[in-house]
Order: sequence, then structure tokens, then C-alpha cells
Amino acid sequence: KQFTGKVALVTGASSGIGMAAALQYAQEGASVVVSDIDEAGGSRVVEEIRDNGGEALFVKADVAKPNDCENLVKKTIAQYGRLDIAFNNAGIGGEANPVGDMSIEGWNKVIAVNLSSVFYCMKYQVQQMLQNGGGAIVNNSSILGQVGFANSAAYVAAKHGVVGLTKNGALEYSAKGIRINAVGPAFIKTPLLTNAGLNEEVQQQLAKVHPIGRLGESEEVAELVIWLSSAKASFVTGAYYAVDGAYLAQ
Ligand code: NAD
Repeated sequence: KQFTGKVALVTGASSGIGMAAALQYAQEGASVVVSDIDEAGGSRVVEEIRDNGGEALFVKADVAKPNDCENLVKKTIAQYGRLDIAFNNAGIGGEANPVGDMSIEGWNKVIAVNLSSVFYCMKYQVQQMLQNGGGAIVNNSSILGQVGFANSAAYVAAKHGVVGLTKNGALEYSAKGIRINAVGPAFIKTPLLTNAGLNEEVQQQLAKVHPIGRLGESEEVAELVIWLSSAKASFVTGAYYAVDGAYLAQ
């Protein structure tokens, strides 16, 4: 088990990609801080980890709130005494409209939850990781951190911003023992798609724009996140890794 004795924190861990990553960190021996605004879902993830003989704690945090992000790290330290790995994953799809019709509130909400959140989380995570001798941070961007997608301006801008934050963090902290990378999933079968109004028929259309011919699974993204978090990725920092069934190769 590659993460024995390590402490991993995952935001948006009650569902989808975050849940898959939390379960895999635990399988590899990490103590996992499962964080989300969805307490019921998070408690189920904690239960599953404990049932499998792992160690986990749920901490409620709204990543759009700086204080919640600070508290999340504080509670991690209070419980486990250190922070080695963070997967900044929480995010929403948000309002679907072209720029001229997008509401100011819709824009601000997605920027807060999908971009400012990553800054808040990284700010408090790096402070702690510097104290315990380093760590690894993985930020969840998207293929839409590299290319546009009509009617998703706020989401696309936020995800491009996450890639920028990742690069900057890596310049500032790689020599101090903290590796910071971003992952770029294409469309993955999670509740986010249905919450964004993409029904089964639209999802089948979307599958066709992935050269691999299908949507991705949360576990397939988690595999990359786990690798980037591990010592095997010791020279990998400041990078963006697509996990996208060749979407960006088109
Ligand atoms: P999901 O809806 O299954 O899970 C997202 C989780 O984040 C939920 O548990 C939700 O409660 C939580 N969350 C939402 N707002 C939050 C907040 N303010 N504070 C804390 N937690 C909050 O979605 P998912 O598909 O697993 O998405 C996870 C990440 O992956 C997101 O950042 C998303 O943008 C990114 N992503 C998803 C896809 C996809 O197609 N599903 C593709 C690329 C990137």
C-alpha cells in the first residue's frame, strides 16, 4: 500500500470523481478526509471506507467560503496531525447560456465554486504541507481547461483558471517539496451531467464526440489522480494531464 501513514484530503468527495478518489486513497492505506457540502453522501463514503478496514473522517466544507477551506485543513490537522495529499475536486456545472444571456449571479457562482475555491484550498494546504515537509496537490480541471464549449463560459473560464493556478503553485512550491498538478477529464458519467440538464439522450450524443466512443468513468479519473499523488510521480509537477478518451486530440 503506497499511502500507508499518509493523510489525504478530498473536496467534493460525496459523489462522482471525488468519491472514487477517496475510496482509492483509502484502499492504498491513506487516512482520508472526506469533505463536501453533502453530509449524508459524505457519511456514506466514510462508512464504506471504514467497512473496508480503512480510516476516514467527514468534514463539512463549502469550498466557495475561504473560512470553510481554512477550517477543513485545521480539522484535518486536529484529527490526523498532518496533510500529505489534497485533491481539490469540488465543482458544479452551472448555468448553460451564451455570454450575452448569462446572468451575473450564474457567472459569479461558478467562478466561486470552481475557481476561487481552488485558490482558497491551495492557500491553506500549502501552508500546512510546508510544515510537514512537503506533499502533493491535484486540482480537478477539465478538457474545458484547454478548449471552449458553447454555453459554458463561466465553467470554461474557471477550468482554464485552475490550470493557471496549478502552474503558478508549482513554480512557487516545487523546490519546497510540494508537487502540484491538474487533471483534465472529458465527460464522465457522474451526477454532475444530469444536474447540468444533460439527459440520457444528450449523453449518448456526447459519447460520440469522444474518439474512444463512450463517456468516462469516475474510477478511470481517480486512477490518474492517485498516480499523480504518489511517489511514482516524483518529477511530475506543474503539469496538466488529460484523461479524455482522445477528446483533445481532435
Ligand atoms: P458530482 O456532482 O458527482 O460531484 C461533485 C461533488 O461536489 C458533489 O458531492 C457536491 O455536493 C460537491 N460540491 C458542489 N458544490 C460544492 C461546494 N461549494 N463545496 C463543497 N462541495 C461541493 O460531479 P463530478 O462529475 O464528480 O465532478 C467533480 C469535479 O470534476 C468537478 O470539479 C467537475 O467540474 C470536474 N469534472 C467533471 C466532469 C464530468 O463530466 N463529470 C468532467 C471534467 C471535470
